Amino acid sequence: MLGGRGALAAGAASERETGVPWGRLAAGLDGRLIRPGQARYPQAALLYNSRFASLRPAAVAVCRGSDDVARCLEFTRAHRVPFAMRSGGHSYGGYSSSPGLVVDVSALATVEVDPRRRTAKVGAGAQLIDLYDAVARHGLVVPGGTCPTVGVAGLAQGGGVGVLARRYGLTCDHVIAARAVTAAGDQIAVGPDAHADLWWALRGGGGGNFAAVTSFRLSLEPAPPLALFSLQYPWARAAAVLEGWQQWIATEPDETWSNCQLFSEGTAGLLVQVNGVYCGTPAELGRRLARLSRYVGPPGSSFVAGDDYLEAMKVEAGCASLTVAACHTAGEWPGGTLGHAAYAAKSSYVGAPEDLGRTAQWAAAVERLARDAPYLGGGLAFDGYGGAVNRVASDATAFVHRDKVAGVQATYSWGSGSSPGEVAAGARWLRWLGAEVIDPAEGAYVNYIDPTLTDWARAYYGANLARLSRVKARYDPTDRFRFAQSIPLPARG
Ligand SMILES: Cc1cc2nc3c(=O)[nH]c(=O)nc-3n(C[C@H](O)[C@H](O)[C@H](O)COP(=O)(O)OP(=O)(O)OC[C@H]3O[C@@H](n4cnc5c(N)ncnc54)[C@H](O)[C@@H]3O)c2cc1C
Repeated sequence: MLGGRGALAAGAASERETGVPWGRLAAGLDGRLIRPGQARYPQAALLYNSRFASLRPAAVAVCRGSDDVARCLEFTRAHRVPFAMRSGGHSYGGYSSSPGLVVDVSALATVEVDPRRRTAKVGAGAQLIDLYDAVARHGLVVPGGTCPTVGVAGLAQGGGVGVLARRYGLTCDHVIAARAVTAAGDQIAVGPDAHADLWWALRGGGGGNFAAVTSFRLSLEPAPPLALFSLQYPWARAAAVLEGWQQWIATEPDETWSNCQLFSEGTAGLLVQVNGVYCGTPAELGRRLARLSRYVGPPGSSFVAGDDYLEAMKVEAGCASLTVAACHTAGEWPGGTLGHAAYAAKSSYVGAPEDLGRTAQWAAAVERLARDAPYLGGGLAFDGYGGAVNRVASDATAFVHRDKVAGVQATYSWGSGSSPGEVAAGARWLRWLGAEVIDPAEGAYVNYIDPTLTDWARAYYGANLARLSRVKARYDPTDRFRFAQSIPLPARG
């Protein structure tokens, strides 16, 4: 019990003004309802991306169980209040905030591992670092993503691409069941034998579209030995490295995962590096990297090390020397030390290995960012697909991008010292990249959801869109799970 039933006083004036009886909701929750004016509100209103710091929800319900989630959905229906679901709060579009109610499941974060069956029941609000930590204690792994504080609900529903993806597939490929609250308030079990259409949609259809997920059951894998690497190359070879890397990764065994990054580090210059994680020993990795050298030449500098799963995930997360507690956001978690970030992004895909002319375009695009926005960091990250990701049929789950060589993420980020002019220059660069360099036919990744994308539904879902709309119509016929890029109901007639 978090004391929500007593927290009625603050916000009483606005309650009279709006006619929304927030106090009644607060009184009915096992968790806490946080309203403007309360001490916890500024923190509770925040998303991970500080570009959304000005969003001011009317209330944030920190749910303690699925009954709380159901009460919130019923309340928003009865009082016609808009709402958004929130797990880790990392939506690139700010879509886990709402001018109405934020239904926050971050406290539904327990991870119960069944080592015998190699499964875990995972609360929808569990953060990735805690999921990794819990399964690692049993010598098990689950493919996830890099950021330690991303929520499992957003990651798994959108896909979930990480360093074990070529070996074990996407996070969504490991969702064997889920529990959810529907728009009608029903608490349902979802899986291959019950609501199988929703189970299909929850594996790649994107968060916030169909129902409120309260937990997942994930299948786990025995922890393999892991070896990490990071190789740097002179910028003058950027286009050739990217070209060679694409040919290499497309022909590597599943055990090799890698990305290729072309980045402008602001005034520190331009950087091209190939990073990765190999499921095997450092000696075996050495053979893989010797093969890479045949495609891209020798690196200028390199780092190779064996590691266990949890430590490897911390390295990938950028919190290598920290405890698990410290790998959380400061102010949100006891002992958390990580900060928020301000960034904008676009995504695309590489369908087949590209020729040098095309990779030179990508490299020139990063040089343009360095020229036009010299004080911002940003660039392009190409994440290897293939392996287990691509062996799943594109209609077996809602995640459609099963035939790609790599995903591409373009980002730029800024800090509190960046001027509005610099941030605007980054935005112009991203717009230009979207219009002139990215091929819209390659699609986009819904977990890098992009508010500036026009043909977003086709880009995220391709041939799965019509089926997703039908699932939406069945579970949310009045479109209550709605945001700027939520899956549309089927066209009438
Ligand atoms: C620093 C960083 C690194 C990342 N690295 C990776 C990576 O390596 N691989 C990768 O695949 N992705 C990565 N991502 C993207 C990430 O997977 C998505 O942003 C993801 O959607 C975030 O999930 P969340 O729960 O944290 O976010 P939220 O903002 O809470 O949720 C995302 C969406 O899901 C909805 N949602 C949340 N909870 C629920 C629920 N319980 N039921 C129904 N809908 C819900 C929200 O309404 C929102 O629309 C990264 C993001 C960041 C910021």
